[in-house]
Amino acid sequence: HKDRVWIGVDMGTSGCRAIAIDEDARVCAQARRALDPPTQPSPGHCTQNPEHWWDTLLGVLGDLKQALGGRAPVGLCLDATSSTVLLTDREGAPLGSARLYNDRSAVDEAAQVARVAPSESAARGATSSLAKVLLLYREAQPTHDVLALHQADWLLGRLCGRLGFSDWNNALKLGYDAQRLGWPDWLQEILPSGVRLPAVQAPGTIMGTLAPAIASPLGWPTSTAIHAGTTDSTAAVLAAGARRPGDAVTSLGSTLVVKILCEQPIRDSASGVYSQRYGDAWLVGGASNSGSAVLRAFFSDAEIAALSQVIDPHRPSGLDYYPLLTPGERFPHPDPEFAPRLTPRPTQPSDFLQGLLEGIANIEAEGYRRLVELGAPRPRRILTLGGGAVNPTWTRIRARILDTEVTAATQTEAAYGVAQLALENRLGMG
Ligand code: ADP
Repeated sequence: HKDRVWIGVDMGTSGCRAIAIDEDARVCAQARRALDPPTQPSPGHCTQNPEHWWDTLLGVLGDLKQALGGRAPVGLCLDATSSTVLLTDREGAPLGSARLYNDRSAVDEAAQVARVAPSESAARGATSSLAKVLLLYREAQPTHDVLALHQADWLLGRLCGRLGFSDWNNALKLGYDAQRLGWPDWLQEILPSGVRLPAVQAPGTIMGTLAPAIASPLGWPTSTAIHAGTTDSTAAVLAAGARRPGDAVTSLGSTLVVKILCEQPIRDSASGVYSQRYGDAWLVGGASNSGSAVLRAFFSDAEIAALSQVIDPHRPSGLDYYPLLTPGERFPHPDPEFAPRLTPRPTQPSDFLQGLLEGIANIEAEGYRRLVELGAPRPRRILTLGGGAVNPTWTRIRARILDTEVTAATQTEAAYGVAQLALENRLGMG
């Protein structure tokens, strides 16, 4: 059985990546293709043609087939951008284009949702899947029943020729109650009767097998299992290797995001903290407006790398920064007026950079303390993702300030995370 592989696909906004792993979760092949950029018909309105995702996905699978040679997949799972949604007819044909995760035009619909959704619901806000589905429905005015689907739902449904399922991570922002495992009653009050909601499954559940029309040109078996997917950010946490309560994952990308596995879900709507169901545990996270983007406002990536080498991570700078590009913070200080602190500015650029790195690390530490206050365990170990993860000076500064083992995650690709999800669920036990 040496040539059996499991495939994970990450469909983002800018590209599609596929990774194949073997039974020991080792990467055997990869493929990636870029997507055409989204179109912005007006400010806040972001769309993409779903057929473009589909064509790109088939192209990437074809490339992966070449890279795999004769090795055939046992299962395939896919993650995609959370809260990118579309409407389709009963056969899965899209009604127009999709609304992307960052589309903010569903303002009236968000107000409608706010009147009925509980304050802690992830379906609130103009970028929620629910607000966008209501907007798409109002625009399309369909005369027949339509399916509301996320990017991942539609792609996985087409792969197995069975539309109409989702997973509880993607479905969260459409209003799904992942604790009670059902659609809440308040949803019926605002959802037009012509909108059919997907049947929601645990991520990784086997939903069907590869449709013959897709399997045959690839030369892959029609027994290839198609697994229910997840969101891009949850897939990245899976890839990083978080599995047990207390495992924490910090993302040091443009924005700082802290996440920790908990035994119970935690919510704090004021600061945008919510929980994703994650196997038998809950993935609780909060996102700050601070992050590595502040570094890039002052230094090039090359300067950050070079200057970091002359910083002594064990000697505190004595600066007390709260790095933000503009006033306003979400987590751990929900305050739209929250002021950045970036003074005094030392003459040495390396001292200034150290202050920024320490400032962001302090926000990270405060973030985990806030999650502990809300009921999360103390981080047992912190795995790191994003552009800042590769900076050893910053890692040492963070380990000092956080007083916890801090490491860069070895696997960071969301595609790897969903490939593991397929491997771990190969026996169909969701
Ligand atoms: P995004 O969230 O946009 O995907 P990335 O994960 O690609 O971001 O990370 C990009 C960020 O990483 C930039 O804001 C940049 O400042 C930061 N970065 C790049 N190199 C380093 C480094 N050596 N040390 C710390 N931060 C870095």
